[in-house]
Amino acid sequence: MENQATEVTINQTKLRTIQGNITQQTTEAIVNAANSSLMGGGGVDGAIHRAGGPAILEECKQIVARCGRLPTGEAVITTSGNLKAKYVIHTVGPVWRGGGKGEPELLTSAYQKSLKLAAENKLSSISFPSISTGVYGYPVSHAAKVATGAVITFLRQSTTSIKEVVFVLFDAKTFATYSSALRETAAKIGLNLA
Ligand code: ADP
Repeated sequence: MENQATEVTINQTKLRTIQGNITQQTTEAIVNAANSSLMGGGGVDGAIHRAGGPAILEECKQIVARCGRLPTGEAVITTSGNLKAKYVIHTVGPVWRGGGKGEPELLTSAYQKSLKLAAENKLSSISFPSISTGVYGYPVSHAAKVATGAVITFLRQSTTSIKEVVFVLFDAKTFATYSSALRETAAKIGLNLA
């Protein structure tokens, strides 16, 4: 039960958890856990740039030249080079500094600004990694609650083009933690599990 993939429906949008690699997803957009420089890095960021090829970095460079560094909690969109997904939405999650430095609000913003951008571009599906829980050190149990809460809140507030949202969790422990956080958040507000 603990490891079970979980799915809920909110305002006709399906939200689910899977264990997998974000670079392999076929949703219209995948989200990159980027850093403010938008110049690539380790973890998800490195994997996306490696799999997608140089076109993504070229677009990121143009964005930085035009708008400067990407602040924490904000999001921008590029095409995806060789990836199966059409677009990459780059967002910057907060570095964990103990939890009292606005981390939950900034992490919420990273998810919701990404969804807003997907909706503005009329996209139908989007995959998220576990933003901030790698190099940025956000404890997974806290991040899972914030992430599921942020997405559910966004989807309840308005009906958009987005019909599918997927949390793609790399390792079994993160997958189990997000799956149970999604079940708990759904139960709290009376959503039925699929
Ligand atoms: P951050 O810098 O925001 O902490 P990281 O990329 O370091 O981001 O890690 C975020 C999470 O993504 C971690 O749980 C990490 O295990 C996971 N991860 C790493 N590579 C992939 C991948 N290819 N697909 C999905 N998740 C990944």
